Amino acid sequence: MKVPAIAAQTYDRCKDNPILGQVWKKITKTLSKMSDPIKRAKFTHEAVDKSLEELFENPVVSNHVSCKKGCSGCCHTQVSVTRDEAALLAQFAQKKLKNKIDLSRLEKQARAGDSAVDWYKLSHDDRRCTFLDKNNECMAYEDRPSVCRTNNVFSPPILCDTRDGIEHPIRLLKTEGADMAIAASFMSAKDSGALPYMLWKTLLEWRKISKEVDLFK
Ligand code: SF4
Repeated sequence: MKVPAIAAQTYDRCKDNPILGQVWKKITKTLSKMSDPIKRAKFTHEAVDKSLEELFENPVVSNHVSCKKGCSGCCHTQVSVTRDEAALLAQFAQKKLKNKIDLSRLEKQARAGDSAVDWYKLSHDDRRCTFLDKNNECMAYEDRPSVCRTNNVFSPPILCDTRDGIEHPIRLLKTEGADMAIAASFMSAKDSGALPYMLWKTLLEWRKISKEVDLFK
């Protein structure tokens, strides 16, 4: 499976580290015994959150991370999710949002697949994540993907803005424990890819198996 770039780099660097290597092994082992995609996604998110909570206990981190509610720069970039996370988001879209997501935008985004080049051919508005509300807050916050959870920057928020179609250099918080959990979840997943593509694919699959799904009427 394609592991998100930062988690892949951390895994390559830390897989033989006695503590971080163990994190990866424990999560991989637990995931191998779980079959329910929703439970697998939630388990990974708990592991990622636990590791981040430990980092944020350090005042240097909590006082200097510049991410704020309503700042949605990273929510216009291409976020990677596992098949499990796509199922969790699809369930959220159906149950909590009552299917009221912008399907035409989602389909447009999904057509970019995993290609960053095609993603940045879309307008800034068309790259807006389908889960952002009118106040630029994440409606799926509790169920947001692992990659969204680890996006914490020290650099000025303006640098996260990709309105000009360019990803500017940013200073990311080092989240090695969470990265190892993410690497384990992507390596254990049956499939992974860009959020819109994976969500769209999941919703299409569910439509085939459930008459109750009315997203595509
Ligand atoms: S799922 Fe939420 S946090 Fe992640 S990109 Fe979408 S709106 Fe942003």
